[in-house]
Amino acid sequence: MKMSEWRAERNRLALARLNRALPKIFPAPALIHALARSFTPAMPRRAIDSYWRLHPIRADRLARALAARSGTPDGWTWRLGAEQGLAATFRAPPAPYREVAFSRGPGHCCVCGQPVYRFGWHVDLWDAGPNRNAAWHTACVAAWKFWNAPSDQVRLLKRMQVRRCAQTGGRLWKTAEVDHRVPLFRVWREHRDRSWPELLGFWGLPNLQVINREAHVEKCAAEAGTRKRGVTPPLLTAGSPPAAPG
Ligand SMILES: [Zn+2]
Repeated sequence: MKMSEWRAERNRLALARLNRALPKIFPAPALIHALARSFTPAMPRRAIDSYWRLHPIRADRLARALAARSGTPDGWTWRLGAEQGLAATFRAPPAPYREVAFSRGPGHCCVCGQPVYRFGWHVDLWDAGPNRNAAWHTACVAAWKFWNAPSDQVRLLKRMQVRRCAQTGGRLWKTAEVDHRVPLFRVWREHRDRSWPELLGFWGLPNLQVINREAHVEKCAAEAGTRKRGVTPPLLTAGSPPAAPG
């Protein structure tokens, strides 16, 4: 059997399975996406995973919009440390709803704080209320990965910049790198007191750019200079911990 025949047969079976498992109501963008894949996902859940995995920018935007809806929990401040839910370094985005004191419990997303519905979707299309077995939106998982490893999406980001270096305007080379316009050490040092949803913007698309390696090296050297001249960014000791409610 030729590869193309094998794939057609596989997709025919996968589509039959998907159709059997598909509920009456299913998010249209995820279904359109699933049917356009070269390998049809056989389960509704997989169709949604695949949709968000291939649309990290959309996921980033949505996760930040959902976070804005939740807002900063009362009494929360951005802290680093070894406690559950805290990041060990300022390189990771703050996630208040992962902290025990602020968690909203089953059926709520630990990334954005909003209710999670069937299939990890963010809208209750089914009118069935939050899915109490779920702890995150599929979109927020994709956003979380993107925030923590934006370099994985360098090709996508290059395309969005029409392959021009954001620093020099010249053509982007193969070795171009993803950079945070405002470096994360400065976010921690200078912007720590911003609202939490605003902070997330520093990990999302608004603060990302692809620049050529040489420009990146220069930028990092300049940043290291300011870093040395300024106060060393306090790490684990900064800020007094907020009083845990309850
Ligand atoms: Zn979420």
